[in-house]
Amino acid sequence: MRAEVLICGASFAGLAVARELAGSGADVLVIDRYEIGERQTSACACPTRWLEAMGVAGSIKQELPYMTFSTPYRTARYRLPWSWSSFDYRTLCAALWEQCTGVRFETAKVESLGEPTADGSLSVITDRGTLHSPLVVDALGWRRVLSSPHYQPPQAPLSRGLEVHPDSDHSGDALDVFVERGLARRGFGWRVPAGDEARIGVGSYDPSQHVKRETVELAERLGSEAVKYQGNWFPHRLRDATGDNVFFVGDSAGHCFPLSGEGIRTAFYFGIACGRELRAVVANESDRESALAAYGAFSASHGRAFRIALALQRIVPALPPRLLTGVLAVVGLQRFVDRAFGWYLNQAPPEFADSATRSGPGPSEPLGAPLAGAAR
Ligand SMILES: Cc1cc2nc3c(=O)[nH]c(=O)nc-3n(C[C@H](O)[C@H](O)[C@H](O)COP(=O)(O)OP(=O)(O)OC[C@H]3O[C@@H](n4cnc5c(N)ncnc54)[C@H](O)[C@@H]3O)c2cc1C
Repeated sequence: MRAEVLICGASFAGLAVARELAGSGADVLVIDRYEIGERQTSACACPTRWLEAMGVAGSIKQELPYMTFSTPYRTARYRLPWSWSSFDYRTLCAALWEQCTGVRFETAKVESLGEPTADGSLSVITDRGTLHSPLVVDALGWRRVLSSPHYQPPQAPLSRGLEVHPDSDHSGDALDVFVERGLARRGFGWRVPAGDEARIGVGSYDPSQHVKRETVELAERLGSEAVKYQGNWFPHRLRDATGDNVFFVGDSAGHCFPLSGEGIRTAFYFGIACGRELRAVVANESDRESALAAYGAFSASHGRAFRIALALQRIVPALPPRLLTGVLAVVGLQRFVDRAFGWYLNQAPPEFADSATRSGPGPSEPLGAPLAGAAR
């Protein structure tokens, strides 16, 4: 019932943290209510370079070098300076887990944080008993289970998404985005080609708007059957990445980008940052307080990018559709596309996975000098 590091959540964020602790010699335990890779939590599209950097390129189902943006009036097609890839969730999780040498896994449903013990360890209450650890990570997703109170829709700053996964014929080389008020008054629709299937869905920034009818309509319009539903909430506001001595990573820390709803890359990115801090603690090069402070500051240093994205999330749906169509045509000039998408990728760049830095500077600053013991 004890572990040196307890990682709650075995999806993108939790496995990225665990991967950084592989071979550290520490007793690291990962828990999740499901087996690793059992429940897909997204449309599973991620920048290809991130999948390569994480050593999980074998999970790629289809590379998508283009994006299209459709309004009721026009479709703009952009060639990106980098590509997306859709991947198979189960294969990706297995490939991450394979890299987590020496880490243990158990299934358990996490209920809440209990009272700390006399030696300063935290207590995590699960349906299989109480676990104790001095270093606890909440990578449990949008609800932020280990905080009190949890985040609860529809009051919390959360978006909602629903998608279907019909069969597909390998056609399409673009991640398609549909910005139409008929689908979501404040939100967007998408189609992610993934080899023999497509992931078609609708997301609403307004958590009180249901999106089932709209998802079915979009699938039918694209000539696909509305089958194999999958839906979830996702945060659109950055939260504190630490609290009550817990490290929060991924959706639990609001690391999903507003506007795009992209949260896999950032779960990897902040998961790596958190894992490096924890690794320094278990190597006796740092302590919990310093690690919490450094990781919290690293996450907060990205606040500006998250605020810009949140402002755009508010502005874009308010634009009259004809004006939006004009804007999309102008920003479709290749040099704008390269700059805008280059900036966007740089907010959580794939090089971070290879660098050996502990979490220090934000994305626009040069990466600091490697710290011994923090490297993988
Ligand atoms: C419909 C939809 C499509 C999306 N598509 C994309 C996309 O294509 N690309 C992209 O980048 N982002 C996408 N997102 C956002 C993305 O899914 C999230 O940002 C991402 O999954 C966050 O990763 P995470 O590891 O923090 O959390 P999650 O992936 O949500 O993982 C949380 C883990 O914790 C476990 N868990 C939760 N509660 C408990 C509990 N009480 N006890 C034990 N275990 C628990 C879960 O089983 C899960 O394994 C999409 C979101 C939605 C809703």
